[in-house]
Amino acid sequence: MKDIVIISDLHLMPERPETIALFLRFAEDIAAKADTLYILGDFLEVWWGDDDPATGYQVVFNRLTKLVTENNTDIFFMHGNRDFMIGNALAKQCHFKIIEDPHKISYKGQDILLMHGDTLCTDDIEYQQFRKMVRNPEWQQQFLDKSLDERFQIAKSVREKSQQSTSEKNEYIMDVNQAETDKVFIDNHIKLMIHGHTHRPAIHHKNINGHETTRIVLGDWHSTGSYLHLNASSDLQLQTYQ
Ligand code: MN
Repeated sequence: MKDIVIISDLHLMPERPETIALFLRFAEDIAAKADTLYILGDFLEVWWGDDDPATGYQVVFNRLTKLVTENNTDIFFMHGNRDFMIGNALAKQCHFKIIEDPHKISYKGQDILLMHGDTLCTDDIEYQQFRKMVRNPEWQQQFLDKSLDERFQIAKSVREKSQQSTSEKNEYIMDVNQAETDKVFIDNHIKLMIHGHTHRPAIHHKNINGHETTRIVLGDWHSTGSYLHLNASSDLQLQTYQ
């Protein structure tokens, strides 16, 4: 039986050294002992191309590398809405594998759907349009063809606009859409879904078309961390790391 650890929404950035320190400790205490680590997006607060020297992040990247090469923990990474520009070069450097969103795994004979969670928030039409644009490989190539400085400038202006419109949006718009979530359960023939993104950690049980379903929402990381541990003995429950 594989020992699987799942995290998301760490939003790591050099300007928040305490969260980086928390992750380094978590890597040692928890992730190093697991067979597999899934990172379900927004691991980094911002990322605008693997050519960024990103000196403030190297301590994190080195720890990921060590997890794989010394601790024998396989790492699978899914893009979030903040680190969707993480590419194959960084994956190679840190020895993780990039997985698509959604990604289905099988555990104890049960299929589990892993997602970042932003695609479930369909009430945020403005964001979904933005997502469609920036996830287009052609847009990404054109973006990467610009200098790092130009990319930072573009990202900054996009960010300012997004922060302004986010503050104007209703709470429900920023959460998952129930009809969309039901549809993802039905279309993927699954009863268990795990995602992050909304920063509303919870375990939701719901009967959909006669099937009991469970949706686990991972929390974000600041002074404490949130993770899920799948192993032979543990029940499905969200854990806090501090
Ligand atoms: Mn997110």
